[in-house]
Amino acid sequence: MPPLAGSRPRIGIVGSGIAGLRAAKAILKCKVDARIVLFGDEAHRTYNRPGLTKKRYPLSDALDMMIAEDVKVNGAENDALTWRLGTRVETADLRDRILHLSTGETFEYDGLVIASGVRPRTSVWGNGECGLHAHRTLRGLDDARYIHHRLQAGEKITIVGAGFVACELASLAKEYGCEVLMLEALRSGPFENILGERVSVALGRWLAQHDITFLTGDSARELLCDLQPSHPGPPSDGALFIEAIGSVPNVEWLHGNGLDLSDGVRVDEYMRVAPWANVFAAGDVACYPDPWTPGNLTRMEFWKNAIDTGDLAGRSLASSMGHGPVTSRIGYFPSMSTEVLGLRIQIAGNPRMSDAMEIVCGDLDQLDQGVLVAYLREGAMIGAAYMDKGARFNSAYIKLLKSLRER
Ligand SMILES: Cc1cc2nc3c(=O)[nH]c(=O)nc-3n(C[C@H](O)[C@H](O)[C@H](O)COP(=O)(O)OP(=O)(O)OC[C@H]3O[C@@H](n4cnc5c(N)ncnc54)[C@H](O)[C@@H]3O)c2cc1C
Repeated sequence: MPPLAGSRPRIGIVGSGIAGLRAAKAILKCKVDARIVLFGDEAHRTYNRPGLTKKRYPLSDALDMMIAEDVKVNGAENDALTWRLGTRVETADLRDRILHLSTGETFEYDGLVIASGVRPRTSVWGNGECGLHAHRTLRGLDDARYIHHRLQAGEKITIVGAGFVACELASLAKEYGCEVLMLEALRSGPFENILGERVSVALGRWLAQHDITFLTGDSARELLCDLQPSHPGPPSDGALFIEAIGSVPNVEWLHGNGLDLSDGVRVDEYMRVAPWANVFAAGDVACYPDPWTPGNLTRMEFWKNAIDTGDLAGRSLASSMGHGPVTSRIGYFPSMSTEVLGLRIQIAGNPRMSDAMEIVCGDLDQLDQGVLVAYLREGAMIGAAYMDKGARFNSAYIKLLKSLRER
């Protein structure tokens, strides 16, 4: 398609998170002489989202500022970009290359990057009240400020879910000295969908050993609220009740364009959104061909994945405008780490796709002494997990990583 009438081409990036910022920086690096506009419905420039649950803060009037300062991201102060913060893209017309904004304005683009991320899943609608609780979630800086304030007050907290955000939050709440109740109605313990039942049960024990009341199955279900709208129940007791039960890709603004939005935005190995030559997607929202399990698609919700796919989407877009060669394909190797109550948990590869697991070193009853697990599919290793308070089996884990990468 020819560029829009006028002077410089216009590139719109929807989502001012790390994937959007990295795409913008990659385009600038390719020296595309374009006007790049980043749209973000939050009021903040890009910040380090993982940092929101990683640290306890001392009591201070300046708590909000301290958190914001801590999660600053290098390069977000970039003035070569036009930031449209607090501006939501309501709908997109990909055929006519127009974005419709929450301000009532429109934005015509030559190139588009979709980096709108995900939002927390929640079991309530509307004002977030179920009758018993005011349901809260944690995704953004504003949520984190509110939650840190409440935890500093030493309030009792109930957390629904046992994924990464739930476990980090529970760990943080214990550091603040709060009483913690975790409810996991669907699975046996933390990360079961990724690491399997045996490891998950061991991690559940780890939580319980650290004075967290961790309830599963019916015991958890009994304490979950009645969500029938016709039975609103008694008024909310105001206790801190946080749902961390997964996420939903932010794709509604793309409806009506004939895209495959069944699990985020479907892209090819260059992050291009077919059939459009000028539209790319990156980060948590992008669902791409998995380079590690050919024939499968994957959508990752990890910081490094957002960086790598953001870079690639930016380079691919620049290339589509005649700047630079066709870029290399996605090569992100999945790996992440977290810390839960002093236990470092590292995961690599694709354990979710395994059909068997093998304890390589250690004992699941003594997680703090180190446990290394290999995940296999049809006899071949496709993933690994390492849990330890120290670094006892670090070199064995690095060796496993090496063989995973070389597969
Ligand atoms: C509490 C927490 C802890 C985490 N810890 C880790 C960790 O330890 N390690 C790790 O690897 N990952 C972690 N993650 C995940 C990691 O933060 C994400 O993978 C990463 O931030 C994804 O970046 P993104 O740019 O794709 O999406 P996002 O960061 O979600 O950015 C998307 C932005 O787009 C905005 N947006 C959405 N729709 C629109 C629209 N229509 N118009 C305008 N703007 C829109 C959103 O509000 C958001 O600001 C954590 C996440 C959370 C919430």
